Amino acid sequence: MRAEKPSSHDDPARLALLRYRIGPEAILELIIGDITTESTDAIVNAANSSLLGGGGVDGAIHDAAGPNLLAECQQIRQKRGPLPAGQAISTSGANLPARYVIHTVGPVWHGGSANEPETLASCYRESLRIAAELACVSISFPSISTGAFGYPVHDAANVALRAVAEVLQQPHPVTLTRFVLFDPRTHKAYARAAQQLMSIAELQMKIECSG
Ligand code: ADP
Repeated sequence: MRAEKPSSHDDPARLALLRYRIGPEAILELIIGDITTESTDAIVNAANSSLLGGGGVDGAIHDAAGPNLLAECQQIRQKRGPLPAGQAISTSGANLPARYVIHTVGPVWHGGSANEPETLASCYRESLRIAAELACVSISFPSISTGAFGYPVHDAANVALRAVAEVLQQPHPVTLTRFVLFDPRTHKAYARAAQQLMSIAELQMKIECSG
């Protein structure tokens, strides 16, 4: 993974933009912002298993998307029941700028010995798999599980960025992955995790670091 300088025509409203290159094609961005305003092809919702809305980023996405999003979620819920942690499904973006919302359920933090890292990594992998099925080239993620679900943000950031980097080292339709982080503390944790990831030997062969 190689750090890149944001170009001069980047929107100055994109606070604290950090940009990295993963492999030959993919760009990873970290910003501070509100994911509901993102115009990437897809945004990811940190949903709960009910799929019927909740607080945090889930509530913000439903508020901004309008009632059609909830109606789509209700239909999916009726068909397939609650969504287990680590899995993902997609809906339209309803009134959002994004074309699709990919809803995934992160793990609730139980201290780290209940498979939380694997479940969290699965959220990111499954979301990217669905984005590819939908022919998306860009996707925005929130920091899944680090709000109400209580996952320690530094650990979650490591799991999240590693999972995304592992997928995007391979040829993949998604060429822009943006983490839209809600506060400076979360952004700092992800920036630090990105720094650490750049120095992991086994990933470095494919994710270059240019300092
Ligand atoms: P979870 O239940 O998976 O922990 P939360 O929504 O409680 O999900 O929190 C996940 C993260 O999303 C937290 O860092 C929270 O601050 C952040 N968040 C809340 N609202 C937004 C938003 N509008 N855009 C981006 N991130 C948000």
